[in-house]
Amino acid sequence: MPDRKLPTLDLKRNYARVRNEIREAVDKVLESQHFILGPEVKAFEAEVASTLGVPLAVGCASGTDALILSLMALNVGPGDEVITTPYSFFATASCITRIGARPVFADIDPDTYNFKVDDVLEKISPKTRAVIPVHLFGQMVPLENLAPELRSRGIALVEDTAQAFGATRHVGGEIQRAGGVGDVGCISFFPTKNLGAYGDGGMITSTREDLAKSLKSLRVHGSTETYFHETVGINSRLDEIQAAILRVRLRHLQEWNEERRQAAARYALLFREAGLMEWVRPPVEAPGNTHIYHQYVIRCERREALQAHLESEGISSRVYYPLCLHLQPCFSNLGYREGDFPEAEALSRDCLALPIFPELEAEEQEWLVSSMEAFYRK
Ligand SMILES: *Cc1c(COP(=O)(O)O)cnc(C)c1O
Repeated sequence: MPDRKLPTLDLKRNYARVRNEIREAVDKVLESQHFILGPEVKAFEAEVASTLGVPLAVGCASGTDALILSLMALNVGPGDEVITTPYSFFATASCITRIGARPVFADIDPDTYNFKVDDVLEKISPKTRAVIPVHLFGQMVPLENLAPELRSRGIALVEDTAQAFGATRHVGGEIQRAGGVGDVGCISFFPTKNLGAYGDGGMITSTREDLAKSLKSLRVHGSTETYFHETVGINSRLDEIQAAILRVRLRHLQEWNEERRQAAARYALLFREAGLMEWVRPPVEAPGNTHIYHQYVIRCERREALQAHLESEGISSRVYYPLCLHLQPCFSNLGYREGDFPEAEALSRDCLALPIFPELEAEEQEWLVSSMEAFYRK
């Protein structure tokens, strides 16, 4: 057994930086004994809305629920098609099936790993009711051409912002924020996300104030007045304790995202210095984008052997994602087969997520890269 370990993510190091602030915030909620949709949720919703420059933010129980509630509020349902990427976390596609609509996939860009806008436009049919771009691993999909095109056709734009809170894109002298461009943005506060809670949590952000009433009613069983129901919603709320924790963590997020960016830049430099570019392709940050590196995902040769070698030295790595969505057994009824999305399938075979978190030390990254060098040069 190696005596040193490097995890892909170390939340304990992060907690040590904010312990006192968090305890104070949680204590305040405990003293108030107000646990559901109280002042902390309200304040946090306002802070998120102002951070993204949108008029509306509605807390809910998870990123998955944020997607489901959004599609419900937009009246997407049976008979409708929703276009998204075949390369994402499962929830991106399952939310579409959950509300009775049909997922339609568009292939990805091999450098940024995000879906290709041109492919999406080709997949639009008379049944298309929404498009879900996923800002994968912390980098924004270019929406400047897609958004106006969809708007002109009456198709909703639902940003899956689960991995990209704080990511931005500069276009034509303007700054766009992940979750602040489409009709709605869906955020996850799952503990491992850049802005993670200490339990589950989610939020819907929106540029459309007209969705406020339905989103707020759908999260409380479809009622606007307790015990009276106009629609059938779900029970999906962000709780007060999580909101209080998230308010503390939001204050530090920009700094933490910046630290992730520095770690990513250091990896790229170390790979070049070690002459590893023959075997390794670092992630590409598209011009105009500020990537916040929720994950640092490289493409590499002999992935399984590399991963085993790193593991034997005490270094963890992960495969996001080993099986594309269109090939998942639960979606076999959609009729897709292997070969339909060659770029996404190729990425699932050679991607590897390396450790990245704000507190990752330069010396740990050097250790990892020299271990990779030993593997490829032996
Ligand atoms: C994490 C994640 C979700 C779901 O968020 P939960 O809070 O875990 O429900 C959805 N989409 C993507 C891309 C994610 O990474």
